[in-house]
Amino acid sequence: MKKQLNIGLVAHDAMKEKLADWAKAHADKLERHNLFGTGTTSSVLMKSVPGLKITALKSGPLGGDQQLGAMICDGKLDMLVFFQDVMTSQPHDVDVKALIRMSTLYDIPIACNMATAEIIADRL
Ligand code: PGA
Repeated sequence: MKKQLNIGLVAHDAMKEKLADWAKAHADKLERHNLFGTGTTSSVLMKSVPGLKITALKSGPLGGDQQLGAMICDGKLDMLVFFQDVMTSQPHDVDVKALIRMSTLYDIPIACNMATAEIIADRL
């Protein structure tokens, strides 16, 4: 069995369904890992994929992105799937940027679109 990973999951509102489709398609693999998500993303995914367990953090605009960023700093997150809505400005844009910055700084894989998420899923 492959190493158990801590995986972060975040999707902006317009992208939540897309992330749910990805999670559904790879539920058997995801179930073997520890999943952490921002608040609303976690509840949407758990509703869409029965049986999937996700530790829900705060909602993104209320600090959830920063919580994931802190986990990265502490070496507690191995990868991130982050589907952003790039057509809409976000009230917590600074947090979004900070999360991407932490992923880059600490060199953890980050999937910002479906094509990359599919490649990552092959490695789970
Ligand atoms: P949410 O946060 O899962 O609570 O909607 C996502 C985000 O906008 O960062």
